[in-house]
Amino acid sequence: MDTPAECESCARPGTDLVRVIRVWVTPATWENDNTEKVSEAPSPEWWCFSCRTHYPHRPLES
Ligand SMILES: [Zn+2]
Repeated sequence: MDTPAECESCARPGTDLVRVIRVWVTPATWENDNTEKVSEAPSPEWWCFSCRTHYPHRPLES
């Protein structure tokens, strides 16, 4: 698979794109039984360095 020209998160053109799985973390609250929930995107995305710095994700296992 070819590396796209742009980051798939912020759409900025980038040369330092890495395939990652986007992760959402829902903090524990009294509403959800004090259990932290982690959900993952169903498919990997190409992210630039800036997005990898600012947003939760995990590396794609290759
Ligand atoms: Zn980006």
